[in-house]
Amino acid sequence: MSNSSIKLLPDHVANQIAAGEVVQRPASVVKELMENALDAGADNIKLIVKDGGKSLIQVIDNGKGMNPIDARMAFERHATSKIAKAEDLFHIQTKGFRGEALASIAAVAHVEMKTKTENEELGTYIKIEGSKIINQEPVATATGTSIAVKNLFFNIPARRKFLKSIQVEMRHINDEFFRLALAHPQIAFSLIHNGNLLYQLPASNHLQRIDRLFGQKIKQKMVPVQEETDYIKISGYIGKPEYAKRKRGEQYFFVNNRYIKSPYLHHALMSAYEGLIKEKTFPSYFVYFDIDPQHIDVNIHPTKTEIKFDDEQTVYSILKVAAKHSLGQFNITPSMDFDSRPDLEVPYAYTKKSPKIPEINVDPDFNPFKEDSFGQPAKTPTKHFEKKLEYWESLIHPTENFEIPDNNPTTQTENFVQLESHINQKYFQLKNKYIVTRQDDNLLLMHQNRLHTQILFIELYKQLQSGHIASQQLIFPVEINLPEHDIEAVKNFKSELEKMGFDLQFSTRKLLIQAVPFSLNARQTKDVIQDILNDINSDTPTETKELIRKTAYHIAEKSAVKTGQNLQEAEMENMLNQWFKTGRPVHTEQGKKIVYNIPLKTIDRYFD
Ligand code: ADP
Ligand code: MG
Repeated sequence: MSNSSIKLLPDHVANQIAAGEVVQRPASVVKELMENALDAGADNIKLIVKDGGKSLIQVIDNGKGMNPIDARMAFERHATSKIAKAEDLFHIQTKGFRGEALASIAAVAHVEMKTKTENEELGTYIKIEGSKIINQEPVATATGTSIAVKNLFFNIPARRKFLKSIQVEMRHINDEFFRLALAHPQIAFSLIHNGNLLYQLPASNHLQRIDRLFGQKIKQKMVPVQEETDYIKISGYIGKPEYAKRKRGEQYFFVNNRYIKSPYLHHALMSAYEGLIKEKTFPSYFVYFDIDPQHIDVNIHPTKTEIKFDDEQTVYSILKVAAKHSLGQFNITPSMDFDSRPDLEVPYAYTKKSPKIPEINVDPDFNPFKEDSFGQPAKTPTKHFEKKLEYWESLIHPTENFEIPDNNPTTQTENFVQLESHINQKYFQLKNKYIVTRQDDNLLLMHQNRLHTQILFIELYKQLQSGHIASQQLIFPVEINLPEHDIEAVKNFKSELEKMGFDLQFSTRKLLIQAVPFSLNARQTKDVIQDILNDINSDTPTETKELIRKTAYHIAEKSAVKTGQNLQEAEMENMLNQWFKTGRPVHTEQGKKIVYNIPLKTIDRYFD
């Protein structure tokens, strides 16, 4: 035996390896500790976090607690009070059952626990560092358990280094907190981050809990779903189609009070919205399934956010039908959307100018509504009009036998106006998308939206570097409802945002914007804030400097002239001047082409 090369791993090494699976980041610790508190029958659970969980994660519960022996046992691997035999796996009602979490956490952090059962006078205090018991002694403490996890991955520098920013880790913690809070509305929860009370959730019902977490008058934006068969019971709330958002996020499925991810069920639900919502928008939903645990397998995923139903197809169709039914029953019709009419948006450079009245030679006799004796619109254009049209047509089509497109007086007027205004034009638009002009002997083709975005971006960025972006007060401040962790994120970025022209005020789950960068309007402000939050919350860490740059770009993007927008010649001229001033950029920040410069030589070649 002595020369065998196979060795049993020491426990602390085995625990560290297991920890790799169970503990990916602070949020995994939060999940395990909170689930244990729920399993212990607590009805009040407090989560205290410091620095996105990097320094401290503490969960305090009023559950049944542990006696001194169990307290010690709890940190052993495969120590669980929740299953005793393999068969129990098929009837699991608790969150945990693998008996791995505490052992894994204790292997990679400094852990202190105080716990007491109802029957004991004194409780137990245990201190463990990297699987080593440092101390165990009696302590005076309330019934229940308090576990503090400090300095996660202190002994695995490679993993500690890969933790993301406080903000990003906090977002993951927040996600776990939301999932558990939504799954258990009858339990009171609170969340404190760096001394700030972010959420205090009293025991309530599902709808109140959703409202408490998301605010935004979410109750009015939801309809209930309800369905019950022998196999499964479905309940919950799904968003009215008109409130579907650009952003995914408020989408939750729970099976037996456990949050799950399911692209398959997401698909079922989305198919109920077919034709009701715009492409690339997502409804919110909070759907709860109750099913006999025998019909599901929760053991297929180590962190248990995926489960398997033994009859997936049935669940799919029941959900789809139930959702369709509620959307129909509550008589939902998509509301008209005036928000995204690009042609109604005025580029900022022109908001200050009084609109130039286009000089059009109007035929004073022309009346498109004049009807002939048969009650039809008059078919014969006036003589004056006819003459002009012929003249311009002959300029454009110098060939004989040209045809007037049709006899409808309205189109003819349009034709006429266009021809009139194009004759001396240095700039014109192609399909309200491209600006066409010339520079010396070259033909310039420019993408109007990209061109304007990039110009604005460069200007904004320059202004930022020399101090502040000009700001404008809003007559009606913009109010944005946000979850607390997002409010916190905006607060942390406040001084930069102020430099960019925002004037912000904060209250509970609410952001009040009183002034915005000069180029933005109130309506675009919400989108910009959402884009900034997406950047801050993004899993790829972003340095503040980069964040500022991105924000400037979002502002430019939102304020720029859109594709599809009709431009006056003066506007195009102004843009071209700005393009020159900003150093004639050829690509946008994202590397997209802004301009094609087609030299005369190339054009000549077409005519070879
Ligand atoms: P599991 O939850 O899979 O059983 P854990 O490692 O998370 O494994 O916990 C081990 C055991 O410690 C649990 O089975 C439970 O008996 C006990 N325990 C853990 N946390 C608590 C708590 N907050 N209150 C009471 N008992 C707990
Ligand atoms: Mg557990």
